[in-house]
Amino acid sequence: MTTSNYKKVFKQLDAKPIKKAKFIKFNQPKERSCGIALRKCRRCGRMKGHIKKYGLNVCRQCFREIAQELGFKKYS
Ligand SMILES: [Zn+2]
Repeated sequence: MTTSNYKKVFKQLDAKPIKKAKFIKFNQPKERSCGIALRKCRRCGRMKGHIKKYGLNVCRQCFREIAQELGFKKYS
């Protein structure tokens, strides 16, 4: 299970608190100290194509969409 859809099940499990506790105990994603899974896009949560430069912390797809608003200019 990916980290993006881990909490989607909570909506169903809110009616069953014991099942929810069991789900959290066995299916919670591991807390990361390093690696690709630690660096997520702050806009969409994607892990690949991450841009850390200038403290952006967005993926390349989101950067493409918001670059004009941030003040980046395309020269080509
Ligand atoms: Zn993104």
